[in-house]
Amino acid sequence: MRCEKGKVYLVGAGPGDPQLLTVKALRLMETADVVVYDRLVSAEVLQLVATSVARIYVGKACGDHTLNQREIDRVLIDQARSGRGVVRLKGGDPFIFGRGGEEALALAAAGIDFEVVPGITAAQACAAYAGIPLTHRGLAHGIQFVSGHRKNNDRLRIDPATLSDVGQTLVIYMGLETLPQVVAQVLAAGREAQTPAAIIEHGTLARQRMFVTTLGRLSAEAKLRAVEAPALIVIGKVVSLADSLDWFLPTIEQGRQCYG
Ligand code: SAH
Repeated sequence: MRCEKGKVYLVGAGPGDPQLLTVKALRLMETADVVVYDRLVSAEVLQLVATSVARIYVGKACGDHTLNQREIDRVLIDQARSGRGVVRLKGGDPFIFGRGGEEALALAAAGIDFEVVPGITAAQACAAYAGIPLTHRGLAHGIQFVSGHRKNNDRLRIDPATLSDVGQTLVIYMGLETLPQVVAQVLAAGREAQTPAAIIEHGTLARQRMFVTTLGRLSAEAKLRAVEAPALIVIGKVVSLADSLDWFLPTIEQGRQCYG
């Protein structure tokens, strides 16, 4: 698999651990002319981009957008039009809270060839490394991926119907900043304050930290532990399994302390 000239590959870089890249992603990163990446792509993954490949950072820090989405689309289109093989590297999966859909639409509208290479999304990877099966017979029959991001500081409003089914594990992306609002809405939707909940920071990396607590204590725990982005929140009975299943070394030190 080689990166073709004049084409854009929307590639999922996975959650951080470079071993979780797909073979296809790696091959493209080795043969691209240019890699366009943002903040969520880990330094460990970037190290695998060949030194001969040009890099363009279009990262977004919270509230400090280096380039806006239209400008990013423009970069991709211009690079492809100038005949380069372009890898657009995105954290996790490009089509899960990654704005990959918008970029693909812009490419399609501009008549640029593109391919989408899925990546392991944070929910799958962080839960696996935290020892939390997202579904488990008798505990969870489904999963909801929910965004805690709000536009332009608007109030966060998640449809209660999304949050109320206790048989569904809730995975909250981008929920750190709005955590008190997220928790209030999950409680208001009828989930018990005692529901097990976990925060996974820098999931899958050697610096991963994981805190197991309850829904009612989530916000206080995040504050107490000075949790930083990126962090993923998992809410539901399955979180209780982490007590027995947290196999990933760094979590052993940190996990469990606050459970119950
Ligand atoms: N496309 C990405 C998600 C982008 S939204 C994916 O599929 O994973 C960014 C959010 O993803 C972060 O706010 C955080 O909630 C979550 N996230 C991504 N990588 C993470 C990691 N290594 N550890 C914890 N959370 C992560």
